[in-house]
Amino acid sequence: MSTYTKLPLSLIAMALSCLMATKAIANDATVAAGAKSKAAVASGPSDDDLSKALLNKINKGSGDIVIRTGDLPAGNPPAQAKPEAKPEAKPKVAKAPPPAKPVEKEPIEVIQWSYMDGPGGPENWGSISKENLACLKGKNQSPININVDRAVKAEMAPLEFLYRPSPLSIIDNGYTVMVNYGEGSNVIAEGRQYRLVQFHFHKPSEEAINGERTDMVAHLVHQHHDGDLLEVSVLMTTKPPATTRRYLWGNEEVKGNSLIQTLWNNVPLVKGKVETPGVMIDVNQLLPANRGFFTYMGSLSTPPCTENVLRYVMKTPIYVSPEQVKNFDRIYPMNARPLQPKGDRLVKESTGN
Ligand SMILES: [Zn+2]
Repeated sequence: MSTYTKLPLSLIAMALSCLMATKAIANDATVAAGAKSKAAVASGPSDDDLSKALLNKINKGSGDIVIRTGDLPAGNPPAQAKPEAKPEAKPKVAKAPPPAKPVEKEPIEVIQWSYMDGPGGPENWGSISKENLACLKGKNQSPININVDRAVKAEMAPLEFLYRPSPLSIIDNGYTVMVNYGEGSNVIAEGRQYRLVQFHFHKPSEEAINGERTDMVAHLVHQHHDGDLLEVSVLMTTKPPATTRRYLWGNEEVKGNSLIQTLWNNVPLVKGKVETPGVMIDVNQLLPANRGFFTYMGSLSTPPCTENVLRYVMKTPIYVSPEQVKNFDRIYPMNARPLQPKGDRLVKESTGN
């Protein structure tokens, strides 16, 4: 039995555009616990299926659009061969009512974004899809170089990390290794609470400090219940503590980082597949002992490059072993967006620890 829903066209169009917007969220914004990861979605009609069903309805030219669940393929993963929509047969009636609205077909998106120069490369992220326009036109993009001399030193409330352990849920989404984090871990910044949703890695670090990138970076993506995003960057370095006296060090000095080891041990063999190996992890192990930070207003550093992301970059890197970096390198040798113009943005540096 199909369920019938009668909706005005405008409502459906709105719902569709919302879906599109959500779908576009990638690494830095996968806020729905992996549910939007392209290959991971196995249930429910895909956006494309919804669009097709809607287009079919519109082409039939009725004023009221009725979408039945029967119009949608039953829960096919997008990767699988979709039943090709047959070219719509022209109505034989000579005077068919005109379509409610001229429907422009979306160009089929064939170019996947990538970190390599080329049609899908960082310079073209903003042109390969309308959803990514901020990548091209945005004025507050990430990552940036942080010039320490120019950062405004400020007494700011410390970031409060209220993290607790979570069952490991890990995916190689084709752009990075990402961990979806369980509920109940939050950060409090300027009196606002943001929930830790996921964290993932870039090599080398995307953000630079005084022109230097570190070996890697972990991005911890948080979301306020009103939707606002906050990202904490934890730089990762293989430089042993003795050679970087400027920094204070956590307690993972020589062996490498034990959480990283657990993650690498459990990297899925198959891209796009969420693995839940039944182990607990504690993201506190990714935090440096010194909690000083830089902060500025930036964006997601992956398409759709959404702005108004409150970015924090921890001043102190954590130590990872060269072997740990090498292992990530075997999966993703380079997955960092080029530095973006800082423009007239302010960068603040916390004076406390
Ligand atoms: Zn990131």
